[in-house]
Amino acid sequence: MARIVMKFGGTSMGGIDRIRAVAERVKGEVDKGNDVAVIVSAMAGETDRLVQFCREASSLYDPREYDVVVASGEQVSSGLLAIMLQSMGVKARSWMGWQLPIRTSEAHASARIDDIDADILAKAIEGGQVAVIPGFQGMTEEGRVATLGRGGSDTSAVAIAAAMKADRCDIYTDVDGVYTTDPRIVPRARKLAKVTYEEMLELASVGAKVLQTRSVGLAMKCKVPLQVLSSFEDKPGTMIVDEQDIEDSEMEKQLITGIAYAKNEAKVTLTSVADKPGSVAAIFTPLAEANVNVDMIVQNFARETGNTDVTFTVPSDDLAKSLDVLAKAKDEIGYREISHDTNVCKVSVVGVGMRSHAGVAATMFQTLADRGINIMAITTSEIKVSVLIEEDYTELAVRVLHTAYGLDAEDDAA
Ligand code: ASP
Ligand code: MG
Repeated sequence: MARIVMKFGGTSMGGIDRIRAVAERVKGEVDKGNDVAVIVSAMAGETDRLVQFCREASSLYDPREYDVVVASGEQVSSGLLAIMLQSMGVKARSWMGWQLPIRTSEAHASARIDDIDADILAKAIEGGQVAVIPGFQGMTEEGRVATLGRGGSDTSAVAIAAAMKADRCDIYTDVDGVYTTDPRIVPRARKLAKVTYEEMLELASVGAKVLQTRSVGLAMKCKVPLQVLSSFEDKPGTMIVDEQDIEDSEMEKQLITGIAYAKNEAKVTLTSVADKPGSVAAIFTPLAEANVNVDMIVQNFARETGNTDVTFTVPSDDLAKSLDVLAKAKDEIGYREISHDTNVCKVSVVGVGMRSHAGVAATMFQTLADRGINIMAITTSEIKVSVLIEEDYTELAVRVLHTAYGLDAEDDAA
């Protein structure tokens, strides 16, 4: 007997027939003798619809009331699943976030989970009753409904799995696992049997949007074994586990685990910045104060002028703010010109295997060079190499890198 958390996303909950199929799956785990808590998303499209209502009601809506509105989608789907389970003879009841309670911070619309009362939950499920819990919602100290930010049900599921000390947290979704890269770009992309938390964090944050990034960070911190799998097919998905739970032999075989890309960055260049202590600080301090998260940074020295050009990337959404901040700090920084480009893409190769191998970056650079793709900036970490390239080359870059690192599936999956 095991304690299992099952989470179902919006597509899996999108309609009564689908909810029936979800209930069958839950029943399957109960029939095996497992204690089960189920976390559900709102029915597909429902949260978007509710958000839109708020926007139409007022462009300056109160975020506390926005949370009351958008949290209702999950209330509906959890009640419906409980009804469906009962109709199949499975003991079940719903638990709203405020009933458990799932305590959150005061940051309405993007709250963090602070604490979950595991006792109530444990009592509920030990009696053999399935607990159906709406994802995405909780309650603040003040006793008001709060939501966790879009995609937040994944984080709810992991937090509940951690509080319950669950043996596994299964995330059922409309894809059947985590792939070596986006299968829409590379039909020969392969489904990964296992991936480490660290790799998943890198893959999620650079654009492989299977799970909310925060949920992966939380799973890593609390060591919750996660599985991403399809709610429409009966086959194992991808396990997301601690590095220690992957055999060395498996890991070393595979140098690179996956290739991700992110098109939502913009490049900014400042020319003729004085080559002296403090100039770089003068650029990045005001950006940090404006809460802009700078990612890649390159500084080039020009011998003729004795000055440097500084290039870096910021999220596209923060570009206007960044340009404004830098224009205001022009005298202090002392640059000549500022230019920017949103037609860029960050492509990353990720893999814990690269810790013990040399030459990963060289292979990446050579592969791109062979296709005439220019690299505008580079960043590396222990398990990742990222390059900034022209956006138009994204698909080509991902494809040739997938082949270069031997990730292509043997049979043509297309
Ligand atoms: N229903 C919420 C959303 O669409 C939360 C979730 O599904 O994870 O963002
Ligand atoms: Mg989701």
